[in-house]
Amino acid sequence: MTNRRPLIAVAGMALAALLSGCSGSTAPVEAVAPTPEVATVKAEPSPTPTAVASAVESEGTDASATEAGDCRGTLVEQTEGPYYTPGAPDRTDLADASTVGIPLTLTGRVLDASCVPVAGAVLDFWQADGAGVYDNSGFDLRGTQVTKADGTYLLRTVIPGLYPSRTEHIHVKVTGADGVVHTTQLYFPDVPQNDSDGIFSDAMLVTVTDQSDDSMAATFDFVLP
Ligand code: FE
Repeated sequence: MTNRRPLIAVAGMALAALLSGCSGSTAPVEAVAPTPEVATVKAEPSPTPTAVASAVESEGTDASATEAGDCRGTLVEQTEGPYYTPGAPDRTDLADASTVGIPLTLTGRVLDASCVPVAGAVLDFWQADGAGVYDNSGFDLRGTQVTKADGTYLLRTVIPGLYPSRTEHIHVKVTGADGVVHTTQLYFPDVPQNDSDGIFSDAMLVTVTDQSDDSMAATFDFVLP
């Protein structure tokens, strides 16, 4: 197993992004804020009426899970960007047979600051498809879910594509038991564009557990502040 993305896949996704409407109303440029780690505002105006910048906002059993008291760094707050749509449906499967992109299964847990799993945390995911295109008129590749009693979540989606100025990323809002909403983004290792993306944070890299040309499995634990 390797975590390294096959070069042909990355190249193909980049080409697809260039060819598929990263310009125009469906996938306008998501401007990069100048300060990577404190990127709380994007300069770009909302591209569509639906791109609302709204403020709405046990123990694991799988082998990759960490035990309480032994979890990685705290979630890094990141910009919401211009493409969030509130009210996404409650579902764990964001992709279907028509979705453009390589299937991705993402698992993990939501943990509190003491690394104790948080049951009932709300995860609200949204992302571009494999060609770098957001659905800003509907809820394709958007969905909310609630963590189980052991703090776990499961997301079935696709690896997001590149679009101008941004590396591969998945947006998510995590609401803990205290009702506080934490907005961040997840990234993927060994993507060349990580180095040139001003919002990218290596603290928010998923851990790839299985990868082929046809699919990826990855994990990430959200540790709330
Ligand atoms: Fe984005």
